[in-house]
Amino acid sequence: MDEKIPVTKSSMPPYEEYCREIASLWKNCWLTNAGEKHQQLLGQLQEMLRTPCVELFVNGHSALELGIEALELSGEVITTPYTFASTTHALVRNGLKPVFCDIKESDFTIDETKLEALITPDTSAILAVHVYGQPCNVERLEEIARAHGLKLIYDAAHAFGVQVNGRPISAYGDMSMFSFHATKVFHTIEGGALVYRDAVLGDRLRSLRNFGLVGEQVSVPGCNGKLTEFAAAMGLCNMRHLEESIARRKSAYQTYEAGLRDVPGIRPFRYISTESVVQNYAYYPLIVDDKVIVGGRDYLQQALESKQIFTRKYFFPLTSDFICYQDLAPSKSLPVAQYMSDHVLCLPMYADLTKEQVEHICGVIRRAAENS
Ligand SMILES: *Cc1c(COP(=O)(O)O)cnc(C)c1O
Repeated sequence: MDEKIPVTKSSMPPYEEYCREIASLWKNCWLTNAGEKHQQLLGQLQEMLRTPCVELFVNGHSALELGIEALELSGEVITTPYTFASTTHALVRNGLKPVFCDIKESDFTIDETKLEALITPDTSAILAVHVYGQPCNVERLEEIARAHGLKLIYDAAHAFGVQVNGRPISAYGDMSMFSFHATKVFHTIEGGALVYRDAVLGDRLRSLRNFGLVGEQVSVPGCNGKLTEFAAAMGLCNMRHLEESIARRKSAYQTYEAGLRDVPGIRPFRYISTESVVQNYAYYPLIVDDKVIVGGRDYLQQALESKQIFTRKYFFPLTSDFICYQDLAPSKSLPVAQYMSDHVLCLPMYADLTKEQVEHICGVIRRAAENS
């Protein structure tokens, strides 16, 4: 009987460490609404991300949805279909129309060379995704946004800990959202953060997060997006182990890289930019060539599952193919995104994954590829 290997597994601090962290909550009985733990975590993030313009939220999606609301956009927003449902939902739930742009084969991020052709007089922003933690072409996107007077927003849910040119990834664009969901590189069980360029947005974001309250008055129909003290305490613990956790993911990545070299029909994941980027090793997506491996990605997924190794078709289907978005004007052709969505398979990736487990996974893949 093979041991079960899930596709992802939450990083847990030592049990005693979390108990110590939450002990003070029994003294002050302040459990949410920007308490002591929330303020501590916020301070650490402000330092790490090198800006005071950070706010915490109950989850990444709420952060993104409220962040977009705070920017007061209208009309159309150009975005990628190769992402998690949240990205597009955050636009549509703000009454905005998503316009899908294709992605690049090299790194799955939005194709900046195809983007300008989609800009119309109704376009108000670009919402790009640092998918799998790989940075978009931040410099070129900044130029395009400037030239056309568009806001530039990043779904950086996968990219916590990533740096570009010595700066935190959130230093680029008008706004970035990090998700601190249990399965992400750094987590607060559920949680998220926004980093924003224009300091004026701070009051609006804090108000939107707390029912629109400004003192006793209510200025906007806000939401409840507050992070609890228990979640913030988990974040404080996980922050102490972040560096080590990323280092362990990196060694899993390197073991995959070595183990999947020369497997016929498999294009292993490779980071393209190396020198200017500090990576976080968030995911390990493979491209499976169905011209070489009969049955392609789905066959490989089954073969792995029969050995108790669980993978995920991440991202399939494309957001543009969701039932709820079929009434949108049909997207222009999205050939690369479509291909990737039909051929990608994300392998297990988490800090606790051992070298032996990764070697075992690679062996199963190699045998499955050879026997197809
Ligand atoms: C996880 C994720 C989100 C949503 O974050 P939550 O914290 O789960 O709400 C948004 N976008 C992407 C790309 C994600 O992976």
